[in-house]
Amino acid sequence: LEALRLGYEGPGGLHTVVEDFSLALDAGDIGCLLGPSGCGKSTVLRAIAGFEPVRAGRIRLGGVTLSSPEVHLPPERRRVGMMFQEYALFPHLDAARNVAFGLRRLPHAEQHRRVAKMLALVGLPDAGERHPHQLSGGQQQRIALARALAPEPALLLLDEPFSNLDGATRERLTTEVREILKAAGQTAVLVTHNEAEARAMADRVGVMHEGRLTDWGGSRRG
Ligand code: ATP
Ligand code: MG
Repeated sequence: LEALRLGYEGPGGLHTVVEDFSLALDAGDIGCLLGPSGCGKSTVLRAIAGFEPVRAGRIRLGGVTLSSPEVHLPPERRRVGMMFQEYALFPHLDAARNVAFGLRRLPHAEQHRRVAKMLALVGLPDAGERHPHQLSGGQQQRIALARALAPEPALLLLDEPFSNLDGATRERLTTEVREILKAAGQTAVLVTHNEAEARAMADRVGVMHEGRLTDWGGSRRG
C-alpha cells in the first residue's frame, strides 16, 4: 500500500477517513492493524479487497496494481481472500460444501481434493458432513478459515475474526490460526483492537490512529 487516501462521499463532499497510509508486507508474513474503533481499519481492508475506491495512492499485490485513482481491478480478479466476522457460514450447507463454495469453477475431483486438504489443515478432517449448527463457534470459525483459504488467495484479509468468541476459545484460536496460516505459507493481514491478539498473531504490527499508521514494526514476541 502506498500513500493511500480513502474516504466516503457525503453531503458535504468527500469525507477522508484514511490519509497518507503506506505499508509493505513480505510474502508469507502476517501483518496486523491495531487501533481503536472507527480509526479506519475495516476501510483499509475493504479497499484492498476492492470494495472501496482509492482517492490517492495505490494498492499493489505481487507487482500488480489492484487499485489507484485510475485503476480498479474487480474484487473477484484480485486473488484476495476474506474472513470477516459477519461472513457467517451458509447454514443450509454442510462444512464441505461451505469450503467448496469458492471453487465452483474447478473440476469436481480438484474441489474434493482441496476440501479434504483444507479440512485437514484446520484440524477438522471429519467435519465435512456436519452443518454449521452442529459445530461450536470456534469450529465454525475454523471452517470459515478453510473456506477463505481454499481458493489459494495471494493475500488473506481477516477482520476481527474472533470477536464473537469467548476469551478462552479466542486465545486458543489465535495461536492455532497463526500455525495454520504459517503451514499454508499464507500472506495475511489481520485487523483487531486487541493488542495481545495482534502481538501473538502477527510478524508485523501496525498501529493506526485516526486514519494514519503511527507504527509498523516487526514486534512479534518469541
Ligand atoms: P471498528 O474497530 O469499530 O470496526 P474501524 O477501524 O474498522 O472500526 P471503519 O469501519 O474503517 O473503522 O470506519 C472508519 C470511519 O469511516 C468511521 O468514522 C466510519 O463512521 C466511517 N465509515 C465507514 N463506513 C462508511 C460508509 N459506508 N459511509 C460513510 N462513512 C463510513
Ligand atoms: Mg472494523
